[in-house]
Amino acid sequence: MFEKKSRSPEIKSGLDTNLKSILENKSTDVETISGSSTMVDYLPTSMPIAGRIANLIQEVLQLEDVTIYPVLDYSADQIIYPILSTIDEAPNNTVFLDDLVTGDIFDKGIHERLIVCPLHPKSISATMRIYCPKCNSANIEKLNLVEHKKCGHIIESKISNYSTSTPFVCPSCSKEINNAENDIKVLAMWYRCEKCAEKFDDALIKLYCRKFNHDFDANSGKFNTLFYYRLKTLHISKDADTTNIKNELVKLLHRFKITTKQNTLVKGKSGNMHDIAIYATGTSEDDTLLFFVKNRYEGISESDMNSILIAKLDFEPKHALFVTQSPLQDGVENLAKLYGIVTISEPEFIKIRSRVEEFVSSWYADVGGHK
Ligand SMILES: [Zn+2]
Ligand SMILES: [Zn+2]
Ligand SMILES: [Zn+2]
Repeated sequence: MFEKKSRSPEIKSGLDTNLKSILENKSTDVETISGSSTMVDYLPTSMPIAGRIANLIQEVLQLEDVTIYPVLDYSADQIIYPILSTIDEAPNNTVFLDDLVTGDIFDKGIHERLIVCPLHPKSISATMRIYCPKCNSANIEKLNLVEHKKCGHIIESKISNYSTSTPFVCPSCSKEINNAENDIKVLAMWYRCEKCAEKFDDALIKLYCRKFNHDFDANSGKFNTLFYYRLKTLHISKDADTTNIKNELVKLLHRFKITTKQNTLVKGKSGNMHDIAIYATGTSEDDTLLFFVKNRYEGISESDMNSILIAKLDFEPKHALFVTQSPLQDGVENLAKLYGIVTISEPEFIKIRSRVEEFVSSWYADVGGHK
């Protein structure tokens, strides 16, 4: 295999060769990276945190597979998620994304594993290098045994001789070879050491830690696991005891001659499906009302509301109602309000029913329906 070309203008060249300075560099670099991303930028800055989460959800809904993938940023030697920049978040802030996994907004999965330097596992700059197995020189050349198709002449040639910039003339028939792909057939490949002249089939392969300028054996390398974050778009209610509420609400809606679908999947603008407790339509197709129903003993948390937000933002119904018999934790009502979701939280169902009735009456009055 070929050595990869350096993509980084900032790669340190061979100054820090002794181990002590390597270790010192390592610890300071790691501190700087994690310090800047997790503590400072994680605090709400220009936008409130809930607003930024909703913005992120909207950005992710526009992605084809609603998944955020990692990108290798070789110039800064780090793994980033560029989409975070759109919500004023540091692109390397994986803590932010992990919090959203805990908050039930994303599923996290393994995207790939990189082999990284065992001494500097935070660095992603490892690239392959090949050496002469006899004298360890890096000055080796790749050779091909090639045939000039037109005259059948066979010659040993350096790979670089085919490059279109330098014209290559067949030594046998003296014709210029302009199109190597068409005119030349590769019969065999091997390496030759320019230092000791050894010819060999398999070069010695090492990985090179570019940032700290040393080689390591591929088998001694550590794994750096890169994760993807996929938006959870399907929310199956875990609480069976909302069945009664839903049944009663459907009866109520039918009294208003509103069409309903219970426990149904609706397709969002992103093409993803969302599990909706009650999907109601008024006098016209686009006069839609989504009911979200959820009970949770310890109270409805912001992450419960976030998962409702995903469906609300993706489907964009005319009205959205969240109904629960559980108490709301701090901030949940405001979060819902911010995105136009009406919350009804009452321990007794009779109160829920009267408040829903109130809401539907005014909704129905708006669209010109009749009781
Ligand atoms: Zn290293
Ligand atoms: Zn050699
Ligand atoms: Zn020829």
